[in-house]
Amino acid sequence: MDYSKTVNLPKTDFPMKAELPKREPERLKKWEETHLYEAMQENRKDADLFVLHDGPPYANGNIHIGHVLNKVLKDIVVKYKAMTGFRAPYVPGWDCHGLPIENALIKEKKINKQMIDRLPFRKDAAAYAQKYIDLQREEFKRLGILGEWTNPYITMAKDYSATVVQVFRELSEKRLIVRHKKPVWWCASCETALAEAEIEYQDRQDTAIYVAFPIQESFILKLSDVGQPSSVADIESIRSLAKLLKQSSIVIWTTTPWTLPANRAIAYNSQEYYVAYKATTGMTYIVAEKRLDAFVKTCQLQGELLRISDTAGYHFLGSLFQGVSAVNIEGRSVPLLSADFVTMDTGTGLVHIAPGHGEEDYRLGIRQGLELFSPVDERGLYTSEVFNPEWVGRFVLKIGDEGANNKVIAYLMAHQKLVGQESLTHSYPHCWRCHNPLITRGTEQYFLQIDSSLGSSTLRQALLQQIDQTTWSPSHAQGKDRIGGMVQKRPDWCLSRQRHWGTPIPTLLCSNKECGQWIVAEKAEDLIRSKGSDAWFESKIEELTDQRVCLKCKAPLQKENDILDVWFDSGASFEAVLHRRDYLKGSKDVMYLEGSDQHRGWFQVSLILSVALNAKAPFTEVLTHGFVVDGQGRKMSKSLGNVVAPQQIIKEYGAEILRFWVASSNYAEDIRLSPDLIKVYAEGYRKIRNTLRYLLGNLSDFDPSLHSVRDLKGLDEWVMFELDTLVYRVRRHCESRLFHSAMNAISEFCGTFLSSFYLDILKDQLYTLKIDSVERRSAQTVLYAVTDTLLKMLAPFLSFTAEEGWELFKKDAGSIFLQEFPKSIYQGKAHPDEQKWIFVQNRKDLVNKLIEEKRKTNALGKSNEAWVTFRKTGKIDILSNKLNFLSPEEWEKILMVSKVNFEELPGDSAVLVRHAQEAGHKKCARCWNWRSDVGQTTAFPDACGRCVTVLNDLSEKGLVRN
Ligand SMILES: [Zn+2]
Ligand SMILES: [Zn+2]
Ligand SMILES: [Zn+2]
Repeated sequence: MDYSKTVNLPKTDFPMKAELPKREPERLKKWEETHLYEAMQENRKDADLFVLHDGPPYANGNIHIGHVLNKVLKDIVVKYKAMTGFRAPYVPGWDCHGLPIENALIKEKKINKQMIDRLPFRKDAAAYAQKYIDLQREEFKRLGILGEWTNPYITMAKDYSATVVQVFRELSEKRLIVRHKKPVWWCASCETALAEAEIEYQDRQDTAIYVAFPIQESFILKLSDVGQPSSVADIESIRSLAKLLKQSSIVIWTTTPWTLPANRAIAYNSQEYYVAYKATTGMTYIVAEKRLDAFVKTCQLQGELLRISDTAGYHFLGSLFQGVSAVNIEGRSVPLLSADFVTMDTGTGLVHIAPGHGEEDYRLGIRQGLELFSPVDERGLYTSEVFNPEWVGRFVLKIGDEGANNKVIAYLMAHQKLVGQESLTHSYPHCWRCHNPLITRGTEQYFLQIDSSLGSSTLRQALLQQIDQTTWSPSHAQGKDRIGGMVQKRPDWCLSRQRHWGTPIPTLLCSNKECGQWIVAEKAEDLIRSKGSDAWFESKIEELTDQRVCLKCKAPLQKENDILDVWFDSGASFEAVLHRRDYLKGSKDVMYLEGSDQHRGWFQVSLILSVALNAKAPFTEVLTHGFVVDGQGRKMSKSLGNVVAPQQIIKEYGAEILRFWVASSNYAEDIRLSPDLIKVYAEGYRKIRNTLRYLLGNLSDFDPSLHSVRDLKGLDEWVMFELDTLVYRVRRHCESRLFHSAMNAISEFCGTFLSSFYLDILKDQLYTLKIDSVERRSAQTVLYAVTDTLLKMLAPFLSFTAEEGWELFKKDAGSIFLQEFPKSIYQGKAHPDEQKWIFVQNRKDLVNKLIEEKRKTNALGKSNEAWVTFRKTGKIDILSNKLNFLSPEEWEKILMVSKVNFEELPGDSAVLVRHAQEAGHKKCARCWNWRSDVGQTTAFPDACGRCVTVLNDLSEKGLVRN
């Protein structure tokens, strides 16, 4: 007869085919309609606060795969925290000002920087930013990210801009901001100063030259100046050296010949030895002893070292340069100065110093009172200040004969000052926006001084101390060293930009250039808070201040036109967002989570502003992630054609597959993604989904309040324990921010432990036993707990799928995100019978292998045709204890075979597999198991004893006719 209607087949509305691209938007709509994010906040309104403060993406273009990685990681953190008992608000933000939007508009309007009409241009820029905020907001929401999307923070908003201005004012009041002339990184094509974080290094080919500076003035040395150690110990030697130097030239090496007209000194290292080399040309050159070989080789010189004196030999210590001066390119006499930064790895050990064109040069210049000379304008052209009138208007970075470098080189050659030249490729700073090479240029700018005093220390010391007190993930030591190293070395922060689209610098300058006084306009903050930052540019001075003239010189005041570095905007977000929204105040923990490039970007600027303002870091924990690369580990780029667009994956596979990819990947490293890899993740997802489908399907007739079995035994009891261990591990991984370890533990539990082991074993009893038999209900009790636990643990990761499953699993419990994340009872302790269960699993693997061998020869079909005999004594006696751990019937169930017995076996074999026919078993037509008791009743002649019991029961209830 047909028994198919007498078995308990699984039933569920959780389809195997996920149809994510179609179903996810419906889910999102439902989340929005039910105000899920607000409900989550309400749910935890009295709980401890945990703030993950969003680093604002730039409002320009569609989202890319890097955004997906970043935002999904944040979403995992926020949801995990919410489900583990925290009030975890998430306020997304956008960075709106800055060059990329200016450049996009300039291109769109086919204009140049000089043609910009500021106010209408700013209005267009604002509209441009708003357009992309709206677009990106929808794209982020599409990923299933929950947050305060209706009230994000936007750096161009009135309130935000006013707070940025407020931060500027407060730092000025603390005397941390100065305005002075200083060399800054300058992009001649964007015509603006750049901050450290806006520089990228690229290889560039340049000409390096060796230039002779004839020594003009020798010295009058006091013996006490010689110092120790010195090989020149006697007056005779010093006299002899002085004489020698008078006939020699200092040789410097530079890769930027165009900076030579700004030369104001030469630096040497007082601890290194120098030599005098007389070339066959008759010239005598002074270089560091350690650089002599390279110098002679590159300049293709022939000649010999000169002896200084009999006692001194051939070299002398750098400290003896004190008091020496030499003649530079324009015939100016410049001093030789000692500087620690002179190293022996390149050049000649003698460094050309142009305080207007380099940070170290500038600092040395300040100490030594050198002139900051920078005869280069904002477009990178020599100004009329340059000593050679023929060079005025030449672009300093232009390559070729007409460029400044070649002109300088030709000039040196004509004046017999060029000793040699070489072509070299070196890592050179470029503009991160237009990718053109940068120059350093001395200009009048606002700076936040990193070495200003702050309380009992300096700002820099306070920054380093706060770095120490922050938790850096994933590697604390690495993160701390990285940002610590950067802060240790960083120069002052150049805050001003000569552009249009940004927060105004709210200052008024004295119109008398000699005076240099400036004040913060006291009315700027209120004005901007009520009218927005355009108001600064629209207002007259009397609307900005009550002060009429410069207090120092009485000259009239004029409005500052420069804007603030866009990093100042985003760096102030802790103040403009965390301190200005009441519900974000007072968090013990504040996490920042961004790509590892933000050590020099947002993390650093936020830290600087917060420490300068409040003497403490804005965060307690900083988590960094790597970057998305292609399947072969290469950077994604348009030119390589290996860019993976998230929009395409969402359309084809669904956002959930992207979430699964992020959750499964070790974000500490760069993460690979390619169309092929996405297929692998889609397949991994399908396995988890099928597990959930099985679980839900076999619970359709189970009501835990009526059917739960309290006293679980054997396999069921152990699986419950394993589930608890999984919870323990997942929680521990999440607490250590190892989300991929948590996700992978869940995947493995679903794929390996449940699907290939436990659920496989259960099929028989779930489908064929009496619907309310204790064995079946016991298994369902486990399945119920597994489903409940898995769905909740999956929720932060696979949010769409977990909610879909949850809705079917607990119809009236509300969203899964309002539930508690599972807690472990046993806290990772091992099960008392752990070793025995491992033995059981190993035996099962062994038996499966033997059955597989027999299947190949067609001696066996399915495993339930097998008769398995374990050796009772002999070599594995020691294991008999473990064999006896389960009864033969339990072994049969777990091995999914027809019969298991223990016997003495011949030879070494520990296990013998035979066909159940050999034991006289027959196949039951209902459960398809091979049993010894098939055909013992006339009513059901083709069914086994176990099935007959079920069938009799069903007959009594009139549910089956025979
Ligand atoms: Zn540029
Ligand atoms: Zn003045
Ligand atoms: Zn049967």
